[in-house]
Amino acid sequence: MSDPSRHIVIVGAGHAGGSAATMLRQLGWQEAITLVGEEPLLPYQRPPLSKQWLSGEATEESLVLRPATFYAGASIDMRLGLRVTAIDRTARTVTLSDDVVLPYDILILATGARPRRLAMPGSELAGVLELRTVADAEALKAALHPGARLAVIGGGYIGLEAAASARTLGAEVTIVEREPRVLARVACPLLSGFFEKFHRDRGAAIEVNAQVEGLEGEGGHVSGVRLADGRVIPCTVALIGVGAVPNDELARSIGLACDNGVIVDLAARTGDPAIFAIGDCTRRPLPLYDRVGRLESVPNALEQAKQAASAICGKPAPAPEVPWFWSDQYELRLQIAGIPFDATEIAVRGRVEDGKFALFHLAADGTVQAVEAVNASTEFMGGRRIIQRRKQLTRVQIEDMAVSMQQLAA
Ligand code: FAD
Ligand code: NAP
Repeated sequence: MSDPSRHIVIVGAGHAGGSAATMLRQLGWQEAITLVGEEPLLPYQRPPLSKQWLSGEATEESLVLRPATFYAGASIDMRLGLRVTAIDRTARTVTLSDDVVLPYDILILATGARPRRLAMPGSELAGVLELRTVADAEALKAALHPGARLAVIGGGYIGLEAAASARTLGAEVTIVEREPRVLARVACPLLSGFFEKFHRDRGAAIEVNAQVEGLEGEGGHVSGVRLADGRVIPCTVALIGVGAVPNDELARSIGLACDNGVIVDLAARTGDPAIFAIGDCTRRPLPLYDRVGRLESVPNALEQAKQAASAICGKPAPAPEVPWFWSDQYELRLQIAGIPFDATEIAVRGRVEDGKFALFHLAADGTVQAVEAVNASTEFMGGRRIIQRRKQLTRVQIEDMAVSMQQLAA
């Protein structure tokens, strides 16, 4: 099947890289593809790592996007457990950590992001963990034994999802957040308040406006989180979930434009026509909002993989999607469509106290910018359609439950 005379090398075998390889074959690319990934595992999905992996419901087999037989059958050359250490744009080669040099005609950077590290005393102690890979998730799972006390630093997605999983497993949990509210990066204050109450009701302690000063240890193992106000939160394990940093160093090292992520266009092209970049490592156009941004989500990884594969295979560019996100915590499914950049008003559809509602964020002219839905898939789906079509609605129209979502989205 493969003709090695034209060769695509994909750097990073995560959700974006693995999906791009598959889509290239689906769209008819018949020549050589090599997928280079630093992790030893086949491309896999990370969402279960903070959820089903911790409860033991997920296995490596259930995580992987495709089995090894698929890549072999599709003639995709897998180089796993190897890192790309250098790129030569003039010679069009990449060097791997085993010193092998591979030529490329087209390069796709899909290097993802890594957990932000906190430089503070005690971060080297045993039991201080982060969560990005299967190996990280396995270490956290092992630490959540009966009697465990988990301190989570960061009340974002990782923090809240891991907290929910740990409480379900019976661990004591304290969440420490620097901001005045949890989910500050991704949700509006009303939604943050709902999630904060829900987690407290399930027995997690939450400290907001809390600055972490350091980690304390006993016998080389973490024993507490020291806050700036002098209090120490005792713990047997500390999980740091304070955001992700794009892996854009390789791109920067070869002079590609980067700004907290590799800058790409809507075809996922960088400034070098032979180099594409996709997934968490990119800063991309958000055409619906006339802005650029870095999206850290599976839907974005898939969308950009499709953009790159379509451009490379000479297929029409896929229509831009409404960005969307989801998060599962306890029995809550949060689904967010859009980003409320210019929103001035919120319409609440459903009752927050029922735990089934959707918040519609409206711009001053009534254009729906974003929808945050909790256990309300119909509102999420309808909201996505409304955002895509840039439909204008009033708060009264949205809040009227006598009008169906179908009618609103029509
Ligand atoms: P990654 O999946 O991070 O893959 C990048 C890969 O590139 C990595 O394997 C890395 O080792 C490799 N790599 C980096 N540099 C090199 C190099 N030089 N050479 C070779 N290989 C290299 N998103 C959602 O939408 N919903 C969720 O519920 C959700 N839950 C999540 C839960 C957790 C615990 C985590 C960590 C993330 C979650 N996400 C979720 C985010 C989602 O997983 C990411 O947005 C997605 O994985 C991004 O895909 P990616 O391929 O860009 O990056
Ligand atoms: P995140 O969602 O950005 O949340 C990190 C939180 O930690 C932010 O609220 C941040 O506040 C806070 N923080 C930063 N520094 C802190 C400090 N010193 N002390 C206390 N709190 C601090 O990132 P994350 O939860 O770590 O997730 C990492 C990556 O995985 C992201 O890419 C995320 O999108 C992805 N992920 C996604 C999902 C999902 O989509 N369901 C689930 C898990 C993980 P500031 O805003 O002030 O920095």
